[in-house]
Amino acid sequence: MISEFKERFDKRHDICREIKQGGKKIMACFYGLVPKELVQAAGMLPIQLIENRDPKFDEGSKLLPYLCGMSKNLTGQLYSKIYDYLDGAMVATVCDTNRHVFDIWQYNNILPNLFLVRTPSTNAAVAVDYYKEELKRLAGELEKLSGRKITDEALLESIALFNENRAQFKQFYDLRPKSGVSAEDALYVFASGLTLPVEEHNEMLKRLNASLSPRKGTNGQTRLMLSAVNLNMALDIIKMAAKYDAAIVTDDFIHNSRYGLNTIATDGDPWEALARGYLRTIPAPGIYPFEDRAAYIRDTIKEAKADGMIYLVQLYCDAFAIEYAILKERFDAWNINYLKLEAEDTPSSIEQLNVRVQSFVESLV
Ligand code: SF4
Repeated sequence: MISEFKERFDKRHDICREIKQGGKKIMACFYGLVPKELVQAAGMLPIQLIENRDPKFDEGSKLLPYLCGMSKNLTGQLYSKIYDYLDGAMVATVCDTNRHVFDIWQYNNILPNLFLVRTPSTNAAVAVDYYKEELKRLAGELEKLSGRKITDEALLESIALFNENRAQFKQFYDLRPKSGVSAEDALYVFASGLTLPVEEHNEMLKRLNASLSPRKGTNGQTRLMLSAVNLNMALDIIKMAAKYDAAIVTDDFIHNSRYGLNTIATDGDPWEALARGYLRTIPAPGIYPFEDRAAYIRDTIKEAKADGMIYLVQLYCDAFAIEYAILKERFDAWNINYLKLEAEDTPSSIEQLNVRVQSFVESLV
């Protein structure tokens, strides 16, 4: 059944168009700090904007060449109407680039509705209070759009659905290193969760987890962890590692950390729970505590019995480059075997990483 995840991911635009034809509104999220629970509670479908490797999108974005590929690519896709079914997008600031890309989208009326999610970078009491109000402001905007009131009950129900998704993801990631699931299949298990209705993804994950057994291993291959943001690039590195007899046995696709670790409280005030569930709990560079992120990577490597880790960043992404500079100190202090790679999301740029991946794998044997 694992192939279903890739099939559903590949058909994501068709699936969304069908859902839209059925009368449901669809809201895009630019990154993991957007509280999808709110969108769901408003009766709309939240989906993550995903990179599409076609140079025409980067070129068509008309953004400055030294901005990150992610922002250029998503902007180009929106101009090209790839996401013609969207009713709007919510952009939560994770870096200067995506914050200002929001302004450009707004200036050019790229979508009918654009909402900036003002997420504080601390979780002090004053920040939680502020963010609760921000969530209520956003809820008002979503209610106007969907025509559905976001009641406390609806929000609690939505939080519970995403909690179920996190619990199933956690189970999957616990089982994954010893289950023989290939890294490529695992990537689609993760990616499909960013674009499918959460109810459907929950049901698929439950069936998958029930079918996994801890019998198969990696047959003596070098075991690696992969940390990455861009899924196309991650897929290339997975294939490249396989060429040198290494298997990516666990991964850290940033959003996965979010889904895998944090359950949001479902008792008490749901607005406060949602605020607390997002502030300083999502691995956005510079917002999430560096120490926690480094420790999460260290512990995940250990649990998966990985021999080393590849840390892949996209060229011109200052946010992850700065984060890496701090994480690196921890990795060195903990004697973690790691390889940092930086490239653009193009086949030629990735191809140049071959030698480095090969020598890293060989150094671990
Ligand atoms: S975090 Fe990096 S890749 Fe993501 S939008 Fe910001 S600069 Fe681009």
